[in-house]
Amino acid sequence: MKVHHLGVAVESLAHTVPVFETLLGQKAGPVETVAEQQVRVASFRVGESRLELLEGTSEDSPVARFISKRGQGIHHVALTVPDLADTLRTLERQGFRLIDRAPRVGAGGERIAFVHPASVAGVLMELIEEP
Ligand code: ZN
Repeated sequence: MKVHHLGVAVESLAHTVPVFETLLGQKAGPVETVAEQQVRVASFRVGESRLELLEGTSEDSPVARFISKRGQGIHHVALTVPDLADTLRTLERQGFRLIDRAPRVGAGGERIAFVHPASVAGVLMELIEEP
């Protein structure tokens, strides 16, 4: 497994992107809008992983709701796995609460699934199948 990316919920990309550009000494990639998840994403490459800053596109988007409950901060951790369907079956058997019981196609075209934070110490886990 590898850490594919960390998702950070932010109130404003306009305010936060410059902070991370200074911190990381690099420019963010182009901002992408993922309509399905009601989010705008700015990402930075850090070694073999990425940091993604996530801004909700509406008041009732998942990211905006996360911020109103818990404030800005780490929203999810994404790990790569070799065989996602197999990993989901194993986790379910082990008693993990899954948001997605089967892989679905993510914004980047990868097969992804989410594990409920209630099962993982309050951390939303995204699993991504290695291409
Ligand atoms: Zn993600």
